[in-house]
Parts: sequence; C-alpha cells; structure tokens
Amino acid sequence: MARVALVTGGTRGIGGAISLGLQQAGCKVAAVYAGNDEAAERFRDATGIPVFKWNVCDFDSCRRGIETVAAELGPVEVLVNNAGITRDATLHKMTPEQWSAVVSTNLDSLFNMTRNVIEGMRDRGFGRIVSIGSINGQKGQFGQSNYAATKAALIGFTKSVALENAAKGITVNAVCPGYIGTEMVRAVPEEVLKSKILPQIPVGRLGEPEEIARCVVFLAGDEAGFITGSTLSVNGGQYMAS
Ligand code: NDP
Repeated sequence: MARVALVTGGTRGIGGAISLGLQQAGCKVAAVYAGNDEAAERFRDATGIPVFKWNVCDFDSCRRGIETVAAELGPVEVLVNNAGITRDATLHKMTPEQWSAVVSTNLDSLFNMTRNVIEGMRDRGFGRIVSIGSINGQKGQFGQSNYAATKAALIGFTKSVALENAAKGITVNAVCPGYIGTEMVRAVPEEVLKSKILPQIPVGRLGEPEEIARCVVFLAGDEAGFITGSTLSVNGGQYMAS
C-alpha cells in the first residue's frame, strides 16, 4: 500500500523536489503551502500532486488541514516539516516582528504539525518524521540569530521526539542543507556567488533541491527504521558537524 506523505512548503523550492521525490518513491503526497496560489496550481498541474493551503503557524489550521488530508488520501504516515522563512537582520537591529515571524513559521510549526499527526502514528505503530534544518542552525550565521535559533531548536526537537516514539515504529530525523540552488540563492548576483559563496563550499558548487529530496526519501522509507534522532548534513563539506 502506498504510504501517505505530507510535505509542508511542498509546492516549490526544496519542498517541491521533496514532494516529487516521495511521489516517485510510490507515496501518495499532499503538498501544503501558505499563499502563493499561482506556484501551487502550477505545481499541482505539472505533477498531479494535490495541494492544500493553510498556515503552519496556526495549530487549529494544522489540525483541520491534516483531517482534510486524511479524509482525501488517508492518515498521514510520513510528515516532512519543510516550510521555513528568513527575516534577516543583525540582532541589534532586529524587530520583534522579524523575530516572531521566523520563530512562528520555523519552530511553532514543528509543534503544530507533529502534535497533530503523532497520536495517529503511535496508534498505527508506524511513522516517519523528517524536518528540514539548516547549516546555519549548526554553525550560526551573521544576521540570522532568529533563523539560526529556530534551526538549532529543530535538532533538539528531533532528538526528543525520536526518543519518545522510538518504541512505536516512528523515526524522527533532521536534514540540514547548506547552500541549495533554489530561486532565492540563484537570485544572488553571479559575482557574489563566485567570489563569496562558492569558495566556502569544498565541493565547489551549490547543492540541488533533488539532492535534499533524495535524503528525505531515504529517511522516509520503511527500510530506514533503525535511523532515528539523527542529523544529516548535506552541505558540500562546508560545515562538518560531529
Ligand atoms: P521557499 O521559500 O522556496 O519555499 C517555502 C515554502 O514554504 C513555500 O511553499 C511556502 O508557501 C511555504 N510556507 C512558508 N510559510 C508558510 C506557512 N506559514 N504555512 C505554510 N506554508 C508556508 O523555501 P526553500 O525551498 O528555500 O526552503 C525550504 C526549507 O529548507 C526551509 O525550511 C529552509 O529554511 C530550508 N533551507 C533552505 C536552504 C536554501 O538554500 N534554500 C538552505 C538551508 C535550509 P508559499 O509558496 O505559499 O509561499
């Protein structure tokens, strides 16, 4: 039977590649997005993957959305917490709004989504949860104290939920990308990319969204049941976390 997988932020960027990778691996996929209807509809039309619109910052929206997905596709067996934003500023210039938007989208969402699938996974004795962190949560980054704090917290969340659910057939892991060639990174001027970013990456290039998707598909597989509480760094050698 095809597993049901839900990917937050699953309609574009890294999340779009993850949705596609899971579909190609045989899952029935639900892709959640926030407000960019045009990108979501384009993605749905191109892939046949159903899209669902709700705000991962809101607990009740997540509960209702997950119920809708369960009614249409079946109970969620694979959850990929991918939705994330940046609102960069050095701490001495950061506004409370910049802090809260990032904490709410990147961190509260982990609770809002995972809390609403975990009981079902425990009852059924199977679950795969993969959350997308960041190299900047592992090493810190200038101008990103809000973002780095949420991505570091994601690792603590992953390890704790992994411990609580290990005996129930549920694995919980984190994938931490480095620089990936999404729209955002590709928009950086060629000169800056060549002189500032690429020299930091020993492999000498940006990562591809599909390279993150492949890691998620691996961790989401039935055969990955002995891997839990782990953090997989996918950054071209830029930062080698122990
Ligand atoms: P994008 O900005 O390309 O896409 C973000 C996705 O998340 C969109 O689908 C967006 O929906 C959705 N989203 C944002 N906020 C919400 C919300 N409140 N509720 C529901 N959905 C939401 O992101 P990336 O592909 O660049 O990043 C994906 C993940 O990977 C993030 O967690 C990011 O931190 C992490 N990452 C990215 C790196 C990179 O190089 N790009 C490097 C390291 C980590 P909509 O389309 O409607 O706006």
